[in-house]
Amino acid sequence: MIIDAHCHVWTWDIISDNYWNELAEIAIDFFRKNKLGSPTVEQVKKGIMDPMMDADGSKLIANMDASGVDRAFIMALDWGYGIGEAEKTVDEINQFYGSLAKKYPDRVVAFAGVDPRRADAVDILDRAVNDYGCRGLKYHPTAGFYPDSKESYKVLEKAQELNIPLLSHLGPISKPLKSKYARPVYLDSIVSDFPRLTVIGAHLGFCWWHEMVNLISAKATTLYADFSGQQVTARRNFAEFCHMLRAAFDEAAASKFLWGTDNPVLEAVIPMKDWLNMIKELPENAPDGIKFTKEEIDAVLGENAAKIFGFKS
Ligand SMILES: [Zn+2]
Repeated sequence: MIIDAHCHVWTWDIISDNYWNELAEIAIDFFRKNKLGSPTVEQVKKGIMDPMMDADGSKLIANMDASGVDRAFIMALDWGYGIGEAEKTVDEINQFYGSLAKKYPDRVVAFAGVDPRRADAVDILDRAVNDYGCRGLKYHPTAGFYPDSKESYKVLEKAQELNIPLLSHLGPISKPLKSKYARPVYLDSIVSDFPRLTVIGAHLGFCWWHEMVNLISAKATTLYADFSGQQVTARRNFAEFCHMLRAAFDEAAASKFLWGTDNPVLEAVIPMKDWLNMIKELPENAPDGIKFTKEEIDAVLGENAAKIFGFKS
């Protein structure tokens, strides 16, 4: 079973314009640096970002079908409290994600976005799971909170009671979001204090990957990491990516890592199908001196993620 353990479904109304504009600026910067022209914010939004919008999930499913991906875990984002509210309320965002899981029950698992600083954060999570059909909790601490804060602990108690996993963003991110909240070490107390909660750190921690891998190897069985977003490293320097993944497997174990795309945005860096094939072919194609087994690759491409929800292959 192939599982994309971390991706998103975008519509304009689930995130405030503060972020969309910043994302457009990043794209413009990329165009200028690579001498590909200098489009305006509006041109980037219309020409590049609008085609990524997917109001009924059909683009995600089509890409999964074309790439040979069985299931996707989709992550709702609750950034509104931190960077300005989106057109949709947090409840409407979680309801939208839950509706996609209901529409594609064998393909999609929805994680609810909750900023624990909201006064009714615990109820938001409860509604997302019991009324809207979400089956996980997504934290994006870069909106301005520490995942091990007092407010967060109330939400995590609820998550543990509901028996759902937490996936928390790790690693540096563009403004207006704030990177300092997204260091792996802020998951440490959570793993100690919530022994029955499955905790997944996102993106292998990006530049903090060694901190994340160290933490996993120190923290028994409930801590995992997805390596979505690592397409950027893999494309820039394939050997460096392979070295990092091998070091992660050696120090922790392949059973602790989950493949993912963080799509739709990284489709432009390496398309889903090529990213999947790149990982599938690691037992044959890793650079000299680095070896991966088929068992390790089968585990990270789906078996590990399937176990979290008890899916049978
Ligand atoms: Zn993400």
